[in-house]
Amino acid sequence: MRAAVLRENAEIRVEGLPRRYPDLPWREDPLSVEDYPAPEIGPGQVLLKVLACGVCYTDVDIVEGRVRCKLPVVPGHQIVGKVVEVGSERGSGIGVGDVVGVAWVGRTCGRCYYCSTSRENLCDSFTATGCHVDGGYAEYAAAFADFVYRVPPAADYVHTAPLLCAGAVGYRALRLANLEDGVRFGLFGFGASAHIILQVVKKLFPSVEVYVFSRSSEHRRLAEELGADWTGHPSDDPPKKLHRAIDFTPVGEITARALELLEKGGTLVVNVIRKQTLVNLEYAKHLWLEKSVRSVANVSRRDVEELLSIAAKYGIKTEVQIYSLEEANKALRDLKSAKITGSAVLKIA
Ligand SMILES: [Zn+2]
Ligand SMILES: [Zn+2]
Repeated sequence: MRAAVLRENAEIRVEGLPRRYPDLPWREDPLSVEDYPAPEIGPGQVLLKVLACGVCYTDVDIVEGRVRCKLPVVPGHQIVGKVVEVGSERGSGIGVGDVVGVAWVGRTCGRCYYCSTSRENLCDSFTATGCHVDGGYAEYAAAFADFVYRVPPAADYVHTAPLLCAGAVGYRALRLANLEDGVRFGLFGFGASAHIILQVVKKLFPSVEVYVFSRSSEHRRLAEELGADWTGHPSDDPPKKLHRAIDFTPVGEITARALELLEKGGTLVVNVIRKQTLVNLEYAKHLWLEKSVRSVANVSRRDVEELLSIAAKYGIKTEVQIYSLEEANKALRDLKSAKITGSAVLKIA
């Protein structure tokens, strides 16, 4: 089968951005698009013909080695595919011909402290799709039947893909933010996750005022179209301070800025795996008066299931830019240089 494969970590070379990791090779095309053995499935697994796969900023982190994965690896953890083969030990009710989604949570042990307390995202043996096992930048992918989600046959596959990570992780961050009616809510960074979460908030909490902070005028324009109450540059002061906020950016300084803009007792949720620059906090300025900050790690099946059902119920739209499998490197470059409005998706079949 055709697949886009990462064989060696490399810094993604993008015009206009300086080299940051001199120890790594510096490549425009870090993925090799090649013929690669199709996966073979074992007990409890299903084989999917991949229809579409979302491109996530985590994939940039994987390529550049900030997230450690097996090598070689086929990235891609927002997979929509059609089941073409079912392994033994079935029982999940998933059959040949079903269209399903696969997310970052590829498998968990089901037995550890975290799995038994509804926090399988923190499982000690969390297996990540497109990292610990091959993912969806390929014509075929294997998945565990207990970790796939039915996609309605009428759904648009390309627009469904970004819900599986950008949407689901953003939704987890929203749950951790404990949003309440009537509060002021800030979104820092307005990419794949935030453009979905803004719509979810406007549906679930219509009385919440949403302020969007982004360096990109294009992203601010999309935020206004999707119902943001105020938009500005991260250095701009909003009309009032925030009760809750999510920081979606890879920039350390933004975490400090978001905490500075919180009301007393406010909560900031940081939704990014690795910050590329240091988070420097001053106790008095950023944390005093009962402000709290927490991170989000991975997703659980509950996050994905709930977000998919909210998206279907309320008609949540995803803005996508479509690439072919052969253009996977271009999608990564465009994502790294913030040229994507919404989500990048590889349309594979
Ligand atoms: Zn992701
Ligand atoms: Zn576990």
